[in-house]
Amino acid sequence: PVEVVEMRGGAPAEDGRPEARGAALALTGIVKRYGERTVLDGVDLAAQPGEVVALLGPSGSGKSTLLRIIDQLETRDSGTVTVNGAELGIGATGRRHSESRLAAERVDAGVSMVFQNFALFSHLSVAENVAGPLRWVHGWAADAAAARAHELLGRVGLGEYADAAPASLSGGQQQRVAIARAIAARPRLLLLDEPTSALDPELVAEVLRVITSLARDEGLTMVLATHQLRFARQVADTAVFMAGGRVVETGPAERVIGDPSTPQAVTFMTAMN
Ligand code: ADP
Ligand code: MG
Repeated sequence: PVEVVEMRGGAPAEDGRPEARGAALALTGIVKRYGERTVLDGVDLAAQPGEVVALLGPSGSGKSTLLRIIDQLETRDSGTVTVNGAELGIGATGRRHSESRLAAERVDAGVSMVFQNFALFSHLSVAENVAGPLRWVHGWAADAAAARAHELLGRVGLGEYADAAPASLSGGQQQRVAIARAIAARPRLLLLDEPTSALDPELVAEVLRVITSLARDEGLTMVLATHQLRFARQVADTAVFMAGGRVVETGPAERVIGDPSTPQAVTFMTAMN
């Protein structure tokens, strides 16, 4: 008899382990120290193609550090980072790749990141913030890059702001530009680090709507650090609860957020609600 295993976004891995071949992201044994302090203490995490993973946990639990390690913005002391079958930053424990080599690996693997503080280029127009990196980083022709920027700004509801300076936009609008920029080159893995935590409360919903539509309509693989539990429960397939640099609990988002099973997660979910 043939056992049919349902797995979002593709065939099951041959040996049945979710973290095995075919995963969009696989982290094993990630350790990060700052001086004497161990801020990540052996983190394993996997995401299948099209899966949305919510990274939850108190401030200081290591969420940003983990995302920065996946994006090759931060070195690790040990462990492996594999994105769509390619291991990134090999030698990060000893010999270091050059910044340019790491950036090239990030581009080749299709990893892109949205930051808490938007990190737009303040001296460039909104449209250039999206089109510029397509030309400089991804080698797109100018007209194709401009057309893609136009298309994406329309999608995030900012078509009229193409020529505006980022500083003239609200925080919510700036973050929508940053999201358009992050997805412009059609990444295969989108990382979002608390994308709404720098926003005034009334601007949060417009950004969450854009992220939800990317997850639903584009089937983008995402790892998303957030404190918005209701949103995480709606948008994420899987929730990973971290504390003290370790994964304490992981499982279906609905279950981990709605009915956590470890005392630390119970305390956190209760406090955040
Ligand atoms: P989170 O995003 O979950 O709030 P972080 O990854 O930002 O957590 O931080 C995890 C721990 O690592 C915190 O204790 C923080 O102070 C520490 N940390 C983060 N970045 C650095 C750094 N560059 N140097 C020293 N300590 C750091
Ligand atoms: Mg953080």
